[in-house]
Amino acid sequence: MGTSGVGEIEGMSARIATRVDRRRMLAIARRLISVHSPTGEAGGAAEALSGLLEAEGFAVDRPEADHPKSPAVVARLDSGTPGRTLQFDGHLDTVHLPFVPFGKDEAQITGSGSCDMKGGLAAAVEGMLAARDAGMPEAGSILLTAHDLHEAPWGFGAQFDRLLVDGVVGDAVLIPEPLCDRLPVSGRGQACWKVTIRREGPPIHEVMRPQGDPKVIAVGAELIRRLGELDSRLSGEVNPVAGRSSVFVGQVHAGEIYNQDPPIFWMEGTRRWIPGQDRREVEAGFRAVLDALAAETGTTIEADYQLVRDAFALDVASPLVADFQRAYTALSGAPLSTGPKPFVDDGNSVWALAGVPCVTHGPRAGGQHTVGEWASIDDLARVAHLYALTAALYCPRG
Ligand SMILES: [Zn+2]
Repeated sequence: MGTSGVGEIEGMSARIATRVDRRRMLAIARRLISVHSPTGEAGGAAEALSGLLEAEGFAVDRPEADHPKSPAVVARLDSGTPGRTLQFDGHLDTVHLPFVPFGKDEAQITGSGSCDMKGGLAAAVEGMLAARDAGMPEAGSILLTAHDLHEAPWGFGAQFDRLLVDGVVGDAVLIPEPLCDRLPVSGRGQACWKVTIRREGPPIHEVMRPQGDPKVIAVGAELIRRLGELDSRLSGEVNPVAGRSSVFVGQVHAGEIYNQDPPIFWMEGTRRWIPGQDRREVEAGFRAVLDALAAETGTTIEADYQLVRDAFALDVASPLVADFQRAYTALSGAPLSTGPKPFVDDGNSVWALAGVPCVTHGPRAGGQHTVGEWASIDDLARVAHLYALTAALYCPRG
């Protein structure tokens, strides 16, 4: 199995092409985008997706996965013959910005989530429907999953992580996030942190402060210097594709007026690391810098350290990559060149928690995390076609 020749692939591709229904796909996109679903409150969008899948004849499972307010959506297209499972996954939540309703012209759809990533999810759903209508895959199954709690800092992927840990995962995964100019094979892990430095006592006039009490602003400055040193050391940790490990300070704050000694200093930033590193060791190393400084200065230093996603790697020798590239070549004439994943997404969790290969590939789209989102309609149809053909090639593998 899995040895379909070029002529055979072209035949399958042509069969799928006639089944990709743009009107149906755009109706799905409209349905999903029309429901405002900021992270944490994607229940209405999940309900809409569940309803339209049921209307298409699918049995839909709604596991809570630790988020009862918005149960996830799980559906299967099962060929009835043993084979592999290819999962299509997307998040239904959008960043917390003012709602923009669905819009459409000749070339594009617009509205909240049209780019990130209800448009891509609609294309994946259409891919599953087109595969079904073309009588594919001939063996194995397509698993469709959709969930809430993706977008940081309102969510950190907890619902999808729960699904993965509970075994709701395919043998390989496709995620239609808006990235189409490369096949991402490597990406850094990311945590965000907020560090708070405190001394005992209330705010006090500069000239009244007890001699010898720690000055939190000076301690904060020293911490910035030490994190700079740490970042210099981390510059030696390099992945040729993903880049380097880093620690970054993005915001600092202390004080109220010019001659008052404040008791609190806080700062925020990120820590990023390359594939192959243990995220727990990364966090421990960061905390060690804080603990040493607190002990030296007589301050209390606390870190709210939040994992966003672990690092990502893709085994380019995996059958998923081979079949994705054969499908991509059938549609676009040449394989997609490899490159870094510029952001963290749910594919990082797929790799870190399930050890399953995951390709992030979605429509040509833009404006993510703004009120000006859009996605190309032609490219959404291409993604639907590509997903169906990849499944047709991959799922029948024994
Ligand atoms: Zn996204």
